[in-house]
Formats: sequence, C-alpha cells, structure tokens
Amino acid sequence: MDRRPARPVLLIVEDDPPTRGGLAEFLGRDWDVLTAEDGTEAVALIQAHMPDLVLADLAMPRLGGMGLLEVIQTDPRTREVPVVFLSGQTDPRTVVDCFSHGAADFIAKPGRPEELRIRLLHAWKQARRVARLESLARTDALTGLHNFRALQLKLDEEFARAARYAQPLALLLVDLDNLKALNDRYGHEAGNAALRETGEVFREELREVDFAARFGGDEFVALLPHQTGAEAMVVAERLRLRLASRPWPWPQPLTLSIGIAAMEGAMHVQDPASLLAAADAALYRSKHKGRNRVEVASPADGLTADTH
Ligand SMILES: [Mg+2]
Repeated sequence: MDRRPARPVLLIVEDDPPTRGGLAEFLGRDWDVLTAEDGTEAVALIQAHMPDLVLADLAMPRLGGMGLLEVIQTDPRTREVPVVFLSGQTDPRTVVDCFSHGAADFIAKPGRPEELRIRLLHAWKQARRVARLESLARTDALTGLHNFRALQLKLDEEFARAARYAQPLALLLVDLDNLKALNDRYGHEAGNAALRETGEVFREELREVDFAARFGGDEFVALLPHQTGAEAMVVAERLRLRLASRPWPWPQPLTLSIGIAAMEGAMHVQDPASLLAAADAALYRSKHKGRNRVEVASPADGLTADTH
C-alpha cells in the first residue's frame, strides 16, 4: 500500500559529501530525508517527491541555491514549499538577497545542531499554518465548498484555459429554491441545514476536476471543465434529483433551480462575466417557469452564435 509516511519529508541539497551525510544523519531524527548534490538533482527530486521543506546550500555546481529557489517559486505546484538556506556566505547582501527572493530562513554554516533542528521545524510549521489560513480564506464556512473569492480566481483561470485550447467549459448557476420561506417558517437552523445538504450533493455528484462554490446567500456555482451544455444538463439533473432524494426532516421540500451556460463549438463567449450573465439569464427562466428545473442559455441570453 502506498501510504505517505507520518513524518515530514526534508530535501537536503548540498554539494559537499561529508556535510551532506552529517546533516542527513542528524536531521533524520525529525524528518524523512532525501538528498541531492546540487540544484539540478534537487529539481528532479522535488517534482517526484514534493518534500515539505528544502534545506539548500548556496554555492553548488550546475544549479546553485538561488537558482533552485527561483525554479521552485515559478512552478505553481511547488511554490509553497519553504526553502531554508544553510551557507557560509554570510555577508549581509547575500542574506538580504535570500530573504527578499522568498527564502523561509537563512542559517550560517556550520550552524549549531540544536538551533538548526528547531529552526527547520519552525519554518515548516510556519509554512503549514500559512497554507491552512489560505485554504480557509477560500472556503465557505457553512458548506465547506469554495467561496466567492476562490470562484472568481478559478473562473478566470478555467475560462482562459478553455478559450486558449478551444475546449468546452460549462457553468452551472444553482439556486436553492425558497430558502427565505424555509428560514421564515422553520428558522435559520433549517435554512443552514438546507445549504449544507446542497453542498453535500455537490461534493457527491461532481468530478475531481469540477469546481463548486457557494456564490452568495442561496446561490451556488459549479464549473465543469471539458463539459458541453448537454453534458452539464445531465449533471444538473442529477444534482436536482439527488438533493430531492436525501432524507430531510422539514415539510418544505428541497429543490433546485439551475441555469447552465457553456462555451463550446461555435458558441462564443466574450469573457467570464458574460458566461456568468448567460447562466444567470437561464436561471431566471428556470425560476420563472416554476422552479425545480434546469434551463440552458441560448444566444438570446447573451451567448453569441458563430454564423460562419
Ligand atoms: Mg557548497
């Protein structure tokens, strides 16, 4: 079974073999240690193992510490991996340079073992704390889905990708029907439970590559990369049916009104806001026709059909 070890993974990058060996042995008390003899070897190991922290020398053949830091920071997958330098080059300009390029810490060689140990653990915990806070800042507390802010970033990203590679992208705008009435009749406990149930249904029905967010009070958005409007229609119906079939203690049933807009084939969409606006127009139609149903946006909703 491929299970990630409970201990954090440290990558030591050092060209001097005795130093490298000594560090690996000593730090092996706290970490699962990987070693590389220069930045180039380190890059390959980072891609393969995603360490929790990198401890790097500055002066090394091929790729030095600063070059390695730059590679780590330009790759979105490794950007958050903290890098601590351990170097004999302790002139103020070098130290300042390391920090201003994003080093998590700088420790002068040879370094006192116990201090090195505690500073590495500190750098790792600090990085983990920041990652957790950033994740919280993108999460809707009630449903555990992404929040509006996260959606804005993701929508821009997915829209640009779909436009660049001429791939379809579907957007579902989902309204939990009559939430206000539910709140008024049965209290906010019922309303909050309804929102949580809806969030649960999104988690159960959507694929790993899809993206679900709570958009506002009673509205949700799902982004479905590579899905056409027709495919999104199937997903939307499943969301609606799944919510209706869940056990629900209050007499007012849980239903969804859904509007879909998709960029696909000859259907051109100017920008992310237009995609959202088209889905909103479709959602409006779905509510207007009596709620608890799905509508797909057409050229009349602001999507432009290519006439070529
Ligand atoms: Mg060196």
